[in-house]
Amino acid sequence: MPRAKKPDNTVEAEVEEASQPPETPKSQIELPHSLSVRQLADLLQVSAVDIIKQLMRKDIMANINQAIDYDIASEVATSLNFETRLRPRTAKGAASAISEIRKRRKLQVEEAGNLQPRPPVVTVMGHVDHGKTRLLDAIRQTDVMATEAGAITQHIGAYQVKVDEQKITFLDTPGHEAFTAMRAHGAQITDIIILVVAADDGIMPQTVEAINHARAAEVPIIVALNKIDKPEADQDRVKQQLAEAGLVIEEWGGDIVCVPISAKEKIGIQELLENLLVVAEVEELKANPAGPASGVVVEAEMDRNRGPLATILVNSGTLKPADTVVVGGTWGRVRAMFNDLGKQVKKAGPATPVEIMGLDSVPQAGDILTAVASEQQAQSMLEKHRRGEEEGTSVSSRVVSLHDLYDKISSGQVKGLNVILKADVQGSIEPIRSSLELLSTNEVQVRIIHSGTGNVSESDVMLATASHGLIIGFGVGTDEGARRQASTEGIDIRHYDVIYNVVDDVEKALKGLLEPELVEVIEGHAEVRAIFSAIKGVQVAGIYVLDGKVSRNSSVRVRRGEEVISDTTVSSLRRFKDDVREVATGYECGISVKDFDNFQVGDLLEFYRIDKAA
Ligand code: GDP
Repeated sequence: MPRAKKPDNTVEAEVEEASQPPETPKSQIELPHSLSVRQLADLLQVSAVDIIKQLMRKDIMANINQAIDYDIASEVATSLNFETRLRPRTAKGAASAISEIRKRRKLQVEEAGNLQPRPPVVTVMGHVDHGKTRLLDAIRQTDVMATEAGAITQHIGAYQVKVDEQKITFLDTPGHEAFTAMRAHGAQITDIIILVVAADDGIMPQTVEAINHARAAEVPIIVALNKIDKPEADQDRVKQQLAEAGLVIEEWGGDIVCVPISAKEKIGIQELLENLLVVAEVEELKANPAGPASGVVVEAEMDRNRGPLATILVNSGTLKPADTVVVGGTWGRVRAMFNDLGKQVKKAGPATPVEIMGLDSVPQAGDILTAVASEQQAQSMLEKHRRGEEEGTSVSSRVVSLHDLYDKISSGQVKGLNVILKADVQGSIEPIRSSLELLSTNEVQVRIIHSGTGNVSESDVMLATASHGLIIGFGVGTDEGARRQASTEGIDIRHYDVIYNVVDDVEKALKGLLEPELVEVIEGHAEVRAIFSAIKGVQVAGIYVLDGKVSRNSSVRVRRGEEVISDTTVSSLRRFKDDVREVATGYECGISVKDFDNFQVGDLLEFYRIDKAA
């Protein structure tokens, strides 16, 4: 699978730096009609990460090899203080551009001096019980160094093994939930995904989910066809199912590496690891081990004796004891670092996991670590972090809802609508998918990045957060946990029972014609303290306003005990025989309401109005 997106792990940490315009006056540059992110970075002499970050701000997820056109390249260059011109389309121009790129790249590499190959970071995914945990254990046991040393392995959330003198880093929290949760935080640290499929069971719902999560992140997949020791194993059937799911294996002319293994009998583990290295080689994974470290929190906990502990996967630079670091919303001075064998280490370079001690408090998985020069710098970064949270510039503020879709398209913040579609039956998915995808326009593409049957789950919400998407539930509900998480992350979950309405709403949202969402605003509460005799057959209650206010235009619910016995509107409001428009907290008044004349002393009135959502 091509790797089209590779947002850098250090995005949040470096945003500050990237947003500072260079001090030099604007320099002029000619750009071709189309060029890759890497080429643009080379031409502008900035890191590809900076380009990717600028693109992310425009909601374009691009990887280093992805081609972008002149208009976008020009916008990026302008934001980095360049003045751009379109380069005439001549063969000579192209050739000289390439040689210029080569020259600059060489220069850049020489300058950086230090872009070194780094180990791949691998996550294992697959359906429950297909053998993810067993495989991670089996891989760990192949590590001769560790076993020879008789070391007791520690669970720190990630470990490294050596294969043919090359290291591979495994995140040992299997499953796509952890992977997507990290992505939702803006940290994509996985380079390759091992998709475990049990040969006796075949592709199951979570296998499909894992494939979709991997695709949404555009991370290459290797298939580990597990449990081949079992007599019921049917490899061909699984290969067929894989092809149907869009993963055509090499043997069948595709590009997906598939290795038959038995995690239990330790068959094929070495081949799997060697194949991982081959895929990693294609990815040309490099990082600069020089300079201050940046990294991502894989796992963190509070240890009773050692205080806050965090496993950091270093992303670039080298982390050392005594470094001052900012990690998400906390900071500290690294007091000691341990590897996955519990051994104290003096340094950790790119793609190396280490557990660190010395933080002020426990950070969250997915938080970014940045080594800084001084405590002062740490404090100023923390301050910015705090302000960022207040201003809602954190990742979650980039979510879309059908209601703000049009604004985001118009302002260029959104170029695609990512939809997660959950339906009651498989048969509903295809018609909805195809109708929604047909709504794609030149400006915005509608993509169903994941679909499946069953309730909207936490995993769906995480995928929506990670992909800045929204969720459509068709004839299904939402799990309680998912509902809570969606409200924290601001994810839009919409429920429908009629296909036409799904398509109609999305279409209207794309055109900015969606009716505004209506929300209930509670205006105040009052208590019935007296009942006056009916005047012209209308019952009037004497009420006391407990909080908020009561107004003549309000809607009102009459509550008696737990029950709502009427839901109606105010028809008159009087104080001392005068009609009034409003009565505030702490005052008494007489009230009559529409179609209800059965007030009793002690009834509670709840006044509300329906407003358009902001
Ligand atoms: P996970 O839920 O994907 O992490 O699956 P586990 O690693 O916990 O494995 C589920 C079950 O399948 C366990 O009982 C394992 O012992 C068994 N299992 C895993 N791999 C193999 C295998 O290669 N062969 C056989 N026969 N059983 C396996």
